[in-house]
Amino acid sequence: MILHLENKTPSVCIRDLEKNHFAKFIFHQDYIQAVTSKNTVIIPDSIAPYVIDSWPFDSDFQLGNVEYKPRRTVKIGHKLLGGNTKNLHLIAGPCSVESKEQITTVAKALIKNGITSIRAGCFKPRTSPYSFMGLGEEGLLLLNDVREEFGLNIVTEARDATNIDLVLKYADVVQIGTKSMYDHGILSACGESDKTIMLKRGFGSTLQEFLQAAEFIMSAGNENVILCERGIRTFESKTRFTLDLCGVAFLKHHCNLPVVVDPSHALGHSYGIIDLSKAATAMEVDGLLIETHPSPKEALSDASQQIDLKELEQLCSSVQSLAKSLSLNII
Ligand code: PEP
Ligand code: MN
Repeated sequence: MILHLENKTPSVCIRDLEKNHFAKFIFHQDYIQAVTSKNTVIIPDSIAPYVIDSWPFDSDFQLGNVEYKPRRTVKIGHKLLGGNTKNLHLIAGPCSVESKEQITTVAKALIKNGITSIRAGCFKPRTSPYSFMGLGEEGLLLLNDVREEFGLNIVTEARDATNIDLVLKYADVVQIGTKSMYDHGILSACGESDKTIMLKRGFGSTLQEFLQAAEFIMSAGNENVILCERGIRTFESKTRFTLDLCGVAFLKHHCNLPVVVDPSHALGHSYGIIDLSKAATAMEVDGLLIETHPSPKEALSDASQQIDLKELEQLCSSVQSLAKSLSLNII
């Protein structure tokens, strides 16, 4: 249950909610926001005199629920996503930062296509220990140069709690990858920050689990959360994962957070990325996350799914004409 309490609520009541109802608090200027476990269905008598408003929920998907607040807007740099903006934010870039030349070439291509946010990982959570794991801080410094030179927003991922502080220092948007959706070190550091966080759905996670991971960040005080659907594991083996567009429809209907779709990791092949981007655009999602590389075959990670810079141009023009017909603003 979410409660808005008067600021004068006695601390003994706050402690009772915390201890017996597992409540998390955010102290606003005009009220105290308390979120208890879903098991609290009746307002405790001792708290009742201080309750301004209450929202009971039958699951722990609460702060992100449209029944609590209508669709929220979240910022990426100066761009607003979500709410009633009808904005579609394009984020593109290589899977990993590999070199100054590679990231600068991509940055120039993004600028040419009117894209203002670059994605690229420096701490890669790879499946094999014998794979390229990213350039670490050296890569973050290259991204920092790209921001200074081109004014691009930096979207980059934290692999685990040992690198989250560095990523928070350099990123405009911290990406929490599919394998890190449950990393509580990352979730709590992101909850304490005011940076925009893009949380990717664990590939084996239900929508409920995905939303509860988002609640960890929001209940710790950071409501600047964007959800990213990036494909889930199913019985299908011809594609790397299965892009859950039903899940996207669910999120758009029930959740108040902006939703970004990542077709690249879902399909795992470059050939269908434009089609899937159009499908997501037709669903009026808030953003697309696309992997692109100057020479995909030579990429050090996710080589098969990255589109080249020519294909990126085609993608932008297809998405732009579709967006226009839907009165969406590409930002
Ligand atoms: C990525 O964006 O490069 C990435 C590793 O994504 P995911 O965590 O969805 O696999
Ligand atoms: Mn990748």
